[in-house]
Amino acid sequence: MKTVVIGGGPSGMMASISASIKGDSVTLLEKESSLGKKLLITGKGRCNITSSLPMSEFINNIQGNGRFLFSAFNEFTNQDIINLLKKHGLEVKNERGNRIFPVTDKAQSVLNCFIKELKEKNVNVRTNCEVTEIKIQNGEVVGVFLRKWRTCELF
Ligand SMILES: Cc1cc2nc3c(=O)[nH]c(=O)nc-3n(C[C@H](O)[C@H](O)[C@H](O)COP(=O)(O)OP(=O)(O)OC[C@H]3O[C@@H](n4cnc5c(N)ncnc54)[C@H](O)[C@@H]3O)c2cc1C
Repeated sequence: MKTVVIGGGPSGMMASISASIKGDSVTLLEKESSLGKKLLITGKGRCNITSSLPMSEFINNIQGNGRFLFSAFNEFTNQDIINLLKKHGLEVKNERGNRIFPVTDKAQSVLNCFIKELKEKNVNVRTNCEVTEIKIQNGEVVGVFLRKWRTCELF
């Protein structure tokens, strides 16, 4: 299947990686000139990646209907993200309050791991590419419209 993912933040990057693991041919479209701009400011630039609490505790710490996230949390756990970063050479450390940070103290290191994984999975990443509309024909999504004034770039 051909899959287009709109937005190259942590969600879009992970969705692209997951879809490519399932065998899809994936294109990731990001309106900014680079991926993960917000990710770079997380945790005051250090990125609080996850928590070291057991997954069963995660739901108890979500406001509202945390059970809604039960399957998502079990599909991809805190250890899974740690393993993904380790695979690309990034170690993590546990700080006060069960917070997990990269040993580098740099959110950029986390972003670099995502970019390496996207490349490894052959995701076609395009930046400066703003989606303005989703194209639907006969009730099926068949494509996207892009803002014209910019040229999409191969990332
Ligand atoms: C100050 C601050 C600190 C934070 N610290 C942490 C932390 O330490 N740990 C943590 O887990 N979370 C933290 N967060 C929360 C975290 O940043 C968000 O949960 C996370 O960025 C959400 O990821 P996302 O991919 O859903 O959205 P975003 O990161 O917002 O990514 C969405 C992407 O989609 C792109 N986009 C939007 N519209 C279009 C379009 N039409 N076409 C193409 N591209 C489009 C955007 O440019 C953007 O790159 C923090 C947030 C803030 C503001």
